[in-house]
Order: sequence, then structure tokens, then C-alpha cells
Amino acid sequence: MSESVALQDFIGRHRRLFVLTGAGCSTGSGIPDYRDADGQWKRTPPVTIQAFLGSEATRRRYWARSMVGWRSFGRARPNRTHHALARLEASGGTTLLLTQNVDRLHQAAGSRRVIDLHGRLDVVRCLDCGGTLPRESMQAALLRRNPGWAMLDAGRAPDGDADLEAQDFSGFDVPPCPACGGVLKPDVVFFGENVPRERVEAAYHALDEADAVLVVGSSLMVWSGLRFVQRAADLGKPIAAVNLGRTRADALLTLKVAQPCDEALAFLL
Ligand SMILES: [Zn+2]
Repeated sequence: MSESVALQDFIGRHRRLFVLTGAGCSTGSGIPDYRDADGQWKRTPPVTIQAFLGSEATRRRYWARSMVGWRSFGRARPNRTHHALARLEASGGTTLLLTQNVDRLHQAAGSRRVIDLHGRLDVVRCLDCGGTLPRESMQAALLRRNPGWAMLDAGRAPDGDADLEAQDFSGFDVPPCPACGGVLKPDVVFFGENVPRERVEAAYHALDEADAVLVVGSSLMVWSGLRFVQRAADLGKPIAAVNLGRTRADALLTLKVAQPCDEALAFLL
């Protein structure tokens, strides 16, 4: 049986799937991923929460790159992989879609039962008063304060970042919270930061209800995602994964499909 027929069979036999997705779902929408086929970093690892909180210079660099990166990230549209998974949910085949992506493209494609494990990049949160504002408002404020940076272009990087290097960021003016003057941060979980407990618990609950797990486009290199696959394995639930490269859970998989996500899931469309 070919891999894709085996996948079709797997999805057909398990009608309560817990779906876990990663960056490989969104590369077809023009959002690069972090890792190569071996699961190694392709580029400078992303900023950690410790660096972001610890230094104003890091925050200037973060927001300058984010301002440039948002131009393309903010316009990204769902691709065939997102649509295929939305179709799978609509047919009653899933308990939850847990995504490690922060781009909201699953929701844009019509998926409704989604948990954004690592948060969402289209919202900005104040670390002092807890208030939120849309990323679009933040973008307008960034552009107002930094008109000289507006026309800079740079290669796209993951998570709405841009490969803006060798720049002096000291003149970049980061807006404070409009309500209290506090420090603003995208409403995403940074490296070095914990996923909120209630989000993890809600996902575990959906996993317990599921009869199998389908991983799509993730190398599962970080524990925040891998733990769900580990738990499924501990519970004896079958696990299938669609990923072009190695995953950290390869030894736990019932079925591995080494194809691009959109090709492997095309039968759902
Ligand atoms: Zn505030």
C-alpha cells in the first residue's frame, strides 16, 4: 500500500482524530519554517522571552524586523493543506486541531475547533496592564514612529519576522501600550516561555477523547508539541504523521508519510 493510500485508510478508520499541525502547513502560504529536513535550525534561532524582557535593544530589533515582516505575513492566505483540514473537521472527522502556528490560517480556512498552542501573532498584549490591541493597530503605530523604515525590504522569516540584519536598531522607536505606557509583546509564546496551563489542559482533554492522532507538517522538535504525541503513545493511540523530514517522534509513529502536506491531504478536497 502506498503511503498516501495508507493515510487515506488511516483517516477513514479513525473518525475522532486529534490533529496537531506545525510550520509545514504554512510554507505553501509563503511563511517559511525554521527547520531543515533533519530538524536543525535553518537560521538564527528565534528571540527568547528572557532576551525580549531583558533588553530594550532586543525589543527594538524584534519590532523593527516584525514591522517589515508583517507586510507579507499579514497578507498570507490559507493554502490547500488548511482547506483540506477544514474539510476533515466539517465531515466530523476530528476532535480538535491543535496548531503550533501563530498565523491563524486554519481559522481563515474555516476550521472552528482550533487551539492556538503558541498564541496568535495578530494580537499584541501589554505585559503591564494585560490589555490587548490588534497587530494592525500596532503596525500603524510602528509605521507612524518610524517612517524611514517603512520602505525597507528584507527576506521573509518565520513567524512574521524578516531577515533584517546589519542595521543599527538604536534609532527604532517602539510604541508603548496606549492605555498604560507599558511594554507590548505579541500574544505568542516565545521560546523559553511556558504555554498557559489551561490551554495545555484543554488540548489534553481533546486528546483523551480522540481515537488517533494525525500530525501534519511538524518535526515535533519542541516539547510543547511533542508531549501530546508522547501522551498519545502512552495511551496506545495510533499516530500518523505527514512531514517531509525527520520528526522527533518517528519511533512512536504508526504511519509516516514523507510527502508535502498539500499532496498527502489532497484526497480530502
Ligand atoms: Zn498597558
